[in-house]
Amino acid sequence: MDLKIGLEIHQQLNTKKLFCNCPSILRDDPHDITLKRRLKPVVGELGEIDKAALHELEKGKHFTYQAYSDSTCLVEQDSEPPHLITKDALKAALEISLLLNTKIVDEIQVMRKTVIDGSNTSGFQRTALIAYNGYIKTSKGRVGIESISLEEDAARKIKETKDSVTYRLDRLGIPLIEITTAPDIKDSEHAKEVAEYIGMLLRSTDKTKRGIGTIRQDINLSISNNPRIELKGFQNLRIIPKVIEKEIKRQLRNFPKKPEVRRVNPDTSTTFLRPMPGASRMYPESDLEPIPITKYLLDKIKIPELLTEKAIKLEKEYKLNSEISKLLVKNNLFLKLVKKFPNLKPLFLAQTLVLTPKEIKKRYNLNISKIKPKHFEEILTYYNSKKISKEAVQELLIDVCNNKKINISKYKTSEVSEKEIKKIIIENKNLSFNAYMGLVLKKYKVDPSEVAKILKKLL
Ligand SMILES: [Zn+2]
Repeated sequence: MDLKIGLEIHQQLNTKKLFCNCPSILRDDPHDITLKRRLKPVVGELGEIDKAALHELEKGKHFTYQAYSDSTCLVEQDSEPPHLITKDALKAALEISLLLNTKIVDEIQVMRKTVIDGSNTSGFQRTALIAYNGYIKTSKGRVGIESISLEEDAARKIKETKDSVTYRLDRLGIPLIEITTAPDIKDSEHAKEVAEYIGMLLRSTDKTKRGIGTIRQDINLSISNNPRIELKGFQNLRIIPKVIEKEIKRQLRNFPKKPEVRRVNPDTSTTFLRPMPGASRMYPESDLEPIPITKYLLDKIKIPELLTEKAIKLEKEYKLNSEISKLLVKNNLFLKLVKKFPNLKPLFLAQTLVLTPKEIKKRYNLNISKIKPKHFEEILTYYNSKKISKEAVQELLIDVCNNKKINISKYKTSEVSEKEIKKIIIENKNLSFNAYMGLVLKKYKVDPSEVAKILKKLL
């Protein structure tokens, strides 16, 4: 079986919108602008109406758009021409292009891609080729990177009825990096590896958005020169192998006659979405001049350190294990706390930052997003000055999750003197170290590490 698999990855950037100055934020509070539109397809460069566009047109729907006067503007409404491309987004695209070993174009020409499902108020999506012909190294050899484009995200679908669709303009115009790999992927597990690796490269730039919906993967799959099928809408990378295997079986049962786009369902099966768009959907954006990529601009682009490399550095420098180091690279607080509390062990700080919250979530099912950097700092300051015990650190973090104020009076360590511990040893002769620990801790509510220190000295 001659299997061809390629990936298309879309990642939102954490900058302003691509062609205006609006913030790239999604909102769920009430909107204050409502627009109604009907869309018509435009004949493309090759003199024909695109198949995918016609498919949508035949549905004959009208569209409603929700917008916010304080976070969207006339560009999203298609009532004003696009502004110059946002510099930070372009810089991020160039960084990513360098990470993926691609050739960067000499001049950026923004194109219009016909989109007639209403998700763009203009009836097209703006997209610009940034780089091409690159590669990444993987466990199963090189995988080519065919192209990297910078494009605007579509509006967000809010609801759909038989004859209308409602979209929200908050997402429209958020910069998206689109990475297309060559069909070099060997099998379904390899597809997951490639998607994970490219995701890690993207996050290494520090200019990508995080969280559900900010990265989307599409898979292109064809068997033995049959038409190409595009699978859209992966929610998480873990299901990639399963979806691919199911799709191969489906295609072997029922060879595809025409290329098509299919939606991935939560149960890993797929359903027909629309015909594959053709080349006729692209034409140049007449409102924007081409942008030359000068040596001056390229010289200012720094290739970021990869998250995997950062993790290895942390592991070595602070004697951590690789699991915790991988979790720590995304945590900006760790290095600050290591500096602030030189007497506390880096491993303890790392555990407190990334493992303790996980544990709290797992054990008590609490909302750990309530724990902010200032809470970690305050609680660790008490522990550092020996006002509370190690155990109390977790207890106080739980209090924060429960919306309680940080109150250490409950957890205050009392003092225990050498004299008192000596007395316990004399009263209970020939016991083990652990037995003495138990006796002392039963009698005094104190920091166990302090007790251990004194016991070691006395025994
Ligand atoms: Zn705007």
